[in-house]
Amino acid sequence: MASEKKVILVTGGSGLVGQAIRQVSEQDPKEDETFVFLSSKEADLKDPVATQKVFEKYHPTHVIHLAAMVGGLFHNMQHNLDFLRNNILINDNVLHNSYKLGVKKVISCMSTCIFPDKTSYPIDETMVHDGPPHSSNFGYSYAKRLIDVQNHAYHQQHGCHFTSVIPTNVFGAFDNYNLQDSHVIPGLIHKAYIAKKEGKPLLVYGSGKPLRQFIYSLDLAKLFLWVLREYEEIDPIILSVDEASEVSIAQVAQMVADAFQLEQGIVLDSTKADGQYKKTASNNKLRCYLPDFQFTPLREAIEKSVEWFIQNYDIARK
Ligand code: NDP
Repeated sequence: MASEKKVILVTGGSGLVGQAIRQVSEQDPKEDETFVFLSSKEADLKDPVATQKVFEKYHPTHVIHLAAMVGGLFHNMQHNLDFLRNNILINDNVLHNSYKLGVKKVISCMSTCIFPDKTSYPIDETMVHDGPPHSSNFGYSYAKRLIDVQNHAYHQQHGCHFTSVIPTNVFGAFDNYNLQDSHVIPGLIHKAYIAKKEGKPLLVYGSGKPLRQFIYSLDLAKLFLWVLREYEEIDPIILSVDEASEVSIAQVAQMVADAFQLEQGIVLDSTKADGQYKKTASNNKLRCYLPDFQFTPLREAIEKSVEWFIQNYDIARK
């Protein structure tokens, strides 16, 4: 019997994670899957009418929901209300139109940075709602946490298969490389690019001691496709490298400097704030499903990202 054709609508398809899913799905195409990648230019998902129109246009059977107002620490601190309202609007429009059109499965995206501020480590999927998030990004965090609440409510009331994933820090091609408003790795890559040109060392803010888990966008994309095809739970799943792969900011900065063959190396500016010392997330649940999944070694993934940034400097978001 021929398998049912899937139309997979990827919201936020022009971003870091969306572009990685595009690349991975094109490398390993399946006959019964057609992907549609959306950007805000085609539909502003804050707008219920525009959202309904784009859903009716493509009639997806499956949705990977990535679109979100995303920003760095400073932007979040200044605009908690906007992050809260815009993300609530986007999520509600996407989930409700998915319900109305009978979409078979929706995978939405939360983040490890929405977990309670005061918590024990490692954090796991059961702890999402255990206490208030960090005050710097409470708007983004509560909007993201509501995805999980909505998923359970749609499941309970209408039997919908809406689920979510929780990635750690993502990096790779098509990232936001803006110097003021980027995440750690793209920010370091852009700074190292300039340092290399000027023959200076890479200046790293803080002590370099905080620990983080980073996932390469192409690895995350492979895991997204596994969730799309195989994962049946409504409860979220953390998509992260192993706890043993946690690295310090100084180690990451050194890898970036090495990728640029920066002879002057790195210089730490300990007068600058460090942020949380660690946010270790457990990937035990993922490992129960996929014990043998191979993550790209961090050094190799950073080298590939640096190569992409240099080759695509003109078009990179920065
Ligand atoms: P990007 O900033 O790279 O991309 C955001 C995407 O959302 C873009 O495609 C953008 O479209 C789209 N978008 C934003 N606002 C709207 C809107 N109003 N209507 C329609 N589309 C919109 O984000 P990432 O790829 O990094 O993030 C994807 C998801 O992963 C997000 O949900 C984020 O919260 C989550 N996440 C990201 C992490 C990270 O480290 N990057 C970590 C954990 C979770 P356009 O290009 O047209 O602006």
